[in-house]
Amino acid sequence: LHLFIFFHLPQPTPTVAMSVNERTYIMVKPDGVQRGLVGNIIGRFEQRGFKLIALKLVHATPEHLEKHYADLKGKPFFPGLIQYMASGPVVAMVWQGLDAVKTGRSMLGATNPLASAPGTIRGDFALAVGRNICHGSDSVENAEKEIALWFPEGIVQYTHDQAKWIFE
Ligand code: ADP
Repeated sequence: LHLFIFFHLPQPTPTVAMSVNERTYIMVKPDGVQRGLVGNIIGRFEQRGFKLIALKLVHATPEHLEKHYADLKGKPFFPGLIQYMASGPVVAMVWQGLDAVKTGRSMLGATNPLASAPGTIRGDFALAVGRNICHGSDSVENAEKEIALWFPEGIVQYTHDQAKWIFE
């Protein structure tokens, strides 16, 4: 008598944890606002399937920007960076969705626009590292810090009715 027993082996669990509800802080810098690129940048995040959960136009003070860029204090370009960022209003936003931090960074392109691939925001609209149009958080931890810094009033939560068409 032969007994054939079939075992249903569990699928290996993914090694990279990705969150559907991850949040990232995205900012159109003063040059992006002045050059009329706000709508294009917002449109890219909307079209990709991210959910907008906070948005405002703000002319930030140097003190506020020094907090935002605290990690870069001491770099030779730091004073120029603060001056550039304080030279006009920025559009501060929070976008939420699958792997939002990493995907947001890849949509922005490399820090130096000359190294940014065409199709990215910097690769399509910028040439100089000191005028690179946009900011995006570089880690989930920094995203949470930046969201708290720019939106101390908190953010709006609502149901995104598109979600069932974007996620399985
Ligand atoms: P990212 O904005 O891509 O996260 P960094 O955190 O390294 O890059 O730098 C913050 C910002 O400082 C850049 O987006 C850019 O505006 C500016 N910056 C970085 N490096 C230079 C540089 N060598 N010269 C002038 N500005 C710079």
